[in-house]
Amino acid sequence: MEDENRKYNQEKLISHEVRCYNCQKLSKKHIFTTRLMGPNENLPYGLEVIKYEDIRLGTITKRKYTVWDKKYVMNKGFFCSSKCGVIYANKHIENLQRRGKTISPNPNGGGSRVVDMNHKLNQLKDKKW
Ligand SMILES: [Zn+2]
Repeated sequence: MEDENRKYNQEKLISHEVRCYNCQKLSKKHIFTTRLMGPNENLPYGLEVIKYEDIRLGTITKRKYTVWDKKYVMNKGFFCSSKCGVIYANKHIENLQRRGKTISPNPNGGGSRVVDMNHKLNQLKDKKW
């Protein structure tokens, strides 16, 4: 479960703009703040400076940059939020059930048989004898 949490419940960095699978909201630019950097230090290649702030430490001034690494971020994998992920997952399962597909909550679960039985009962009910 912890592995799945790490794999599916975290932000995803993408090289281009994408939309949330549920609400279609666009991914945001991946913008972050660097550590304090000295006058002779250079920013890593490929970062676009959004703004910077100079901070005086005694006799030297260090600079903190807010940068964009040209990547985009989606907060929860393919979704902008946990809420969107849950809405999408529930809609998807309901659609599968409506089409008579069986879904098991987990590989060893009995859920699929329950759904399957309900589906068969409905088929019998609608059958013209
Ligand atoms: Zn969303």
